[in-house]
Formats: sequence, structure tokens, C-alpha cells
Amino acid sequence: MGATFSLPPGSMIGVLGGGQLGRMLALAAARLGFDVTVLEPEPDCPASRVSARTITAPYDDAAALEDMARTCQVVTFEFENVPAAVVDQLEAFGASAAPGRLALATSQDRIAEKTFLRAQGLAVADFAQIDSVADIAAALPRLGSRALLKTRREGYDGKGQTWVQGPDDAEAAFARISGRPAILEAAVPFTRELSVIAARGRGGEIACYPPGENHHEDGVLRTTLAPADISLETLTQAEAIAGAALQALDYVGVIGVELFEMPGGALVVNEFAPRVHNSGHWTLDGCQVDQFEQHVRAIAGWPLGPTAPLARVEMTNLLGFEADDWARLAADPDARLWLYGKRHAREGRKMGHVNRLRALA
Ligand code: AMP
Repeated sequence: MGATFSLPPGSMIGVLGGGQLGRMLALAAARLGFDVTVLEPEPDCPASRVSARTITAPYDDAAALEDMARTCQVVTFEFENVPAAVVDQLEAFGASAAPGRLALATSQDRIAEKTFLRAQGLAVADFAQIDSVADIAAALPRLGSRALLKTRREGYDGKGQTWVQGPDDAEAAFARISGRPAILEAAVPFTRELSVIAARGRGGEIACYPPGENHHEDGVLRTTLAPADISLETLTQAEAIAGAALQALDYVGVIGVELFEMPGGALVVNEFAPRVHNSGHWTLDGCQVDQFEQHVRAIAGWPLGPTAPLARVEMTNLLGFEADDWARLAADPDARLWLYGKRHAREGRKMGHVNRLRALA
């Protein structure tokens, strides 16, 4: 990989994962003249129906990875829980994978992630590694009487986490996460949740979208308002955090960094996602180059696009059966509707989103 790597239109981009993020990546890639091959274990996935080719196989299927490496000029990921060994295999077969192994491996393990962020001088919640009930009891005096227990791996949308209400709750709390290896985090007394979407190109150049303000319901992102109404100091901090993480990871592509805003505007990093991010969907209608095209540009070695907002956007996820309301939403001139083509709705499942444009503040 070097600054000279530049894929011409007509090249094949491989995407591991075939959900809505893969689908919107494929649409963006197609717009720039690329073709996409999706590798996804589930047949008939959202990305497969807008991609040139789908390989239906487990992510660690050696034949499928060899096929991807042979036929794709670059391979990327739409989610972070692909085993890091898959990156090694892809590279052994001669593929260029972006972002690389370090970003995937670090983000997969909450202890590794927080340790990494702290090593970059970034503020994170105080934490302890938890492998037993005794570890929880030992850490609570330092972390506060109430602390958040999260599984180290494979937690998302608030799953695999539970509040420990005090020493008496340690045993039950560990049972609630099935006794899995975990992290215990001090409660961060934040005033708002923000996120910053940023990209790093093959030549090390960085582009940052303005941060958005996020609201969750039952652990799932419900709305993003972007650009968030924040001070210049907070904006500068968010950009510095994203830049430091991208640099230290020698990252290529788009990253999503979740932040807690403290009273006074200081930022604490919650976590990062080594991929395009739900809280960046506002860029689809709020920026000249959205996060999906930006990711394609970065991994293809193209110049990064502009990140200045053209409008303020209120992005609302359509969860579960809310997308059944598509006819009303389509008739609403204020709503830009994005549907993911998922065959079946389930309670809380992300089925689409709506972007509503507002005047810039
Ligand atoms: P996560 O899975 O780490 O993104 O956490 C899900 C949600 O839990 C976040 O969006 C916050 O609302 C909340 N949360 C996570 N970590 C903490 C913390 N250390 N203190 C307070 N709230 C937290």
C-alpha cells in the first residue's frame, strides 16, 4: 500500500458483510464505476441485490477468501466482527485489505480498544478487566459503586452489557452477561453523546465530517442531528481525537468514533467502529460526498472528498415495523427515505432511515 495505489473505475471492490452498510457502500462504489463482490453467509442479503457478485459462504471460508483475493483489487469490511485471521488469510492470498488488521483486532476487544485509545493520550472511562465475580468486587471501589459491565467482544447496540448496581449485585451482574470475559467501566457523567466520522486516505491525508449528536433508545441509535451544535473547542477536540486514532492505526478508509461530551465540552472516547457508521448516514443528504463514497475513495486511493455540510440533517432510523409506513414517508416532501431491502422486519431491526434537511445554523 502506498500513496501511488489508485484503482481505476471498473475495478472490483470486495466487501465482507452484506447488510445495509454493505448495500450503501455498493451503491456508492457503483456510482464511481466500480463493481462490488459481497461475501456474506446469509443468502439474499441487502447488499447482494445491488452488487455485481455475491459469494455466499462463512467469512472464514478459505476458498471464498482466495476467490475474493484473486478477483477483487481491494477488500473492505462493513462490520468489525470478522475474525482478524481473515485479514491475514486475505493478505496471504495477495489481497489488499483496508482498513487493516490492527483496526479490526483493536476494535473487537473492548480492553484492547480502551488500552489503545489511552496510549494515544485520549480520555476514556476508567476501566478494569473482568474474568470473575471477584474481579468485579475488587474493581468497584475504584470505579464507583455503580459501573457498566460489558462483554469484551461482540457487544453491539447495547447488547451484552449490564449495570452493576453495587457490590451485592456483582454475582448476578456477571451471570447476566453469562460469565463472559468482560470490561467494567466507570459511569461517565456525560451530557450528550456525539460521534465523529472521519476518513484517512492512502497517502495519510485526513478528512473529518462535523460531529453529530446521537440519541439512543433501548441501546439502539434512534436519531442523529448533524452538524451538532458544539463549541469550536469541542469541534477541534473531536477532530484531534479522530486524527490521532486514524494515524496510530495507520488506517485507510472511514472510521466512526463515538464520544461522550462532558459538562464544559471536554470529550471522552467511548469506542470506535472501523467502518462506515450509522451516525454518518446524515452525510448521504447533507454533504457533497457522503461517508460511503468517502470510504470507497479512500480504499481505492482516490482523493478524499469535501466534508463540509450543505445542510443540517436530522437522521431517524426506521426500526422494526416502522418502515411499513413507507408510503406516508415517501409522500412527505421533507423526508428523504432510504430503505435497506430487508425481507423481514423484526422488533428493533434497522430497516431503513429518513433524512430530514434543515437550514444550517
Ligand atoms: P457501547 O456499546 O459501548 O456503545 O454503549 C452503549 C451505550 O451505553 C452508549 O451509547 C451510552 O449511552 C452507554 N454507555 C456506554 N458506556 C458508558 C459509560 N462508561 N458510562 C455511561 N454510559 C455508558
